[in-house]
Amino acid sequence: MNTLAHPRFATRSLPIRVPRVCVALVGADPGEMIEKAESLVRENPFFEFRLDYLRDPAAGVTKIRRFLEMHPEAICVATCRRAVNGGKFKGSAASELSVLNKAAAAGFQFVDIELETAQALKLSEYEHLRSRVGVILSHHDFKATKKLDETFDRMRVFVADFYKLISTATRLHDNVVMMKFIEDKSHHHSMVGMCMGEQGLMSRLLSLRAGSVFTFAAASPGEETAPGQIAFRTLRDVYRIDQVDAATRVYGVAGDPVSHSLSPLVMNTAFRRENVNAVYLALHAKDLDDLIQCVRDIPISGLSITMPYKESIVEYLDGTDEVTQRVGACNTVVRAQNGKLFGFNTDVAGIVGPLQQRTALEGAKVLVIGAGGAARAAVFGLKERGAEVFIMNRTPAPAQKLAKQAKAKYIARADLKKHLFEAIVHATPVGMNGERTSPLRPEEIRAKYVFELVYSEPETALVKMAQAAKAQVISGTEMFVTQAVRQFEIWTGKPAPVADMQNVVHQAIQMRARSRVTPSTNGHSKLNGTGSKTAARSPVKRALEKARK
Ligand code: NAP
Repeated sequence: MNTLAHPRFATRSLPIRVPRVCVALVGADPGEMIEKAESLVRENPFFEFRLDYLRDPAAGVTKIRRFLEMHPEAICVATCRRAVNGGKFKGSAASELSVLNKAAAAGFQFVDIELETAQALKLSEYEHLRSRVGVILSHHDFKATKKLDETFDRMRVFVADFYKLISTATRLHDNVVMMKFIEDKSHHHSMVGMCMGEQGLMSRLLSLRAGSVFTFAAASPGEETAPGQIAFRTLRDVYRIDQVDAATRVYGVAGDPVSHSLSPLVMNTAFRRENVNAVYLALHAKDLDDLIQCVRDIPISGLSITMPYKESIVEYLDGTDEVTQRVGACNTVVRAQNGKLFGFNTDVAGIVGPLQQRTALEGAKVLVIGAGGAARAAVFGLKERGAEVFIMNRTPAPAQKLAKQAKAKYIARADLKKHLFEAIVHATPVGMNGERTSPLRPEEIRAKYVFELVYSEPETALVKMAQAAKAQVISGTEMFVTQAVRQFEIWTGKPAPVADMQNVVHQAIQMRARSRVTPSTNGHSKLNGTGSKTAARSPVKRALEKARK
């Protein structure tokens, strides 16, 4: 056999076309890493073996060699990052070099070497390594996104196959900074770049179209090797990373916090089903100036707005629909071709729509519990349809104020028994976190319909009470899906795939509830902490995987 023609030995003479996603593999031993690589190699034959996670990285290389021989189609990177650079390897730069040389001899096509290690070596040692294997010269900043050009100037002293700069996003706009940097440098160099952290999601996906040759993913949820890393199948199935290109429109849900929002799941499902070239991201915005700058620079075509920005976003908009003006809150933003921002409120339709389908609202007596954002949408929307609206709230003053603004009525709890309602709309967070408390006592449920806006639980205490009282229950998912359907239609002009959106949300909520309380081996139920593997596997991601099957 002509060994030079063998792909494993061809790395120095032929440029390798690498897939868009490199899956980072960790494990307690090489066998575990190999098992994960075997399970993914047909789907995505590009791996980073994190040798620094192994007790004996050099011995690990010997074992992984067999995988490399069995899978000449796989492109594999060996990384043995030292602890000083954010890895787990406790050895010196010289020991790291020794492991990487061994990896080169074993048939890895690339090694990842940190700038500081390269600087600690003799140039001849670095050049010798590079003569044997492709080199990804990398730099990680675990605190911020700054001095990218200065860092790159230090990296350019070394010739490398890829220059990889990974920073940390402390605000959304750091993603723009990173992507502009990558765009600029990728004209002359093979670049890889993205931001870590929850706020770095945008660059993990979009830096590819700025010129980053590839991005990284975890093998599965809970196995992330860097903050904010996404599991490979989520990146492929939820965010459709293979299809992200220059024409892909970007949307997102902006709030603080947003990590538990189901909107990315439901919207990406809808985009995929309707073949819309768009991606929808969770945007953890610490402030609105940061968000709006990103909307303009990326640009972002549309936003869902959630707590706490539904009211404060209005002053950033160039125009709004009438409902937004009346309610004083916006949950949907559209960026027009000329860059102008327009606001809509689809929460109102999310509440009024499901009620209207069941009963006539003209003259109907409706009790709204709560006086916050969701209650505002309910009160104004119901008044608009001619309902007689009563507002009850834990704190009387905001309810009285809202009643005055909307020409509705304030009602004290003690007076509830004097009324029979057509519907009760519950708009407080009571019951949201699985707690067994209800905003009403059983005897206070004197209505034909109970609309439970809380949608994080399949069955709240209020829902159970309402069922016992023979009231018909309307679930919060109906509001959630209805408002999302409207958003989809406003953004795309297409009818939304309602059934798919409903299914994926139902599944995610069921899974979330199941994963919250897991029976332990000693027979007692326990709440999952964030450190547990079950908790780390996001129900949102699992629901989507299930929906695709
Ligand atoms: P918000 O603006 O923060 O308003 C919260 C309201 O709930 C206030 O009136 C507050 O009363 C009351 N409240 C808070 N904690 C309470 C407690 N422990 N006991 C009694 N009342 C309490 O929130 P929001 O945006 O209106 O959201 C309210 C709920 O609606 C959320 O929990 C969410 O689950 C649900 N929601 C659902 C959807 C959907 O699509 N299904 C959409 C939006 C909202 P005070 O004035 O006394 O503080």
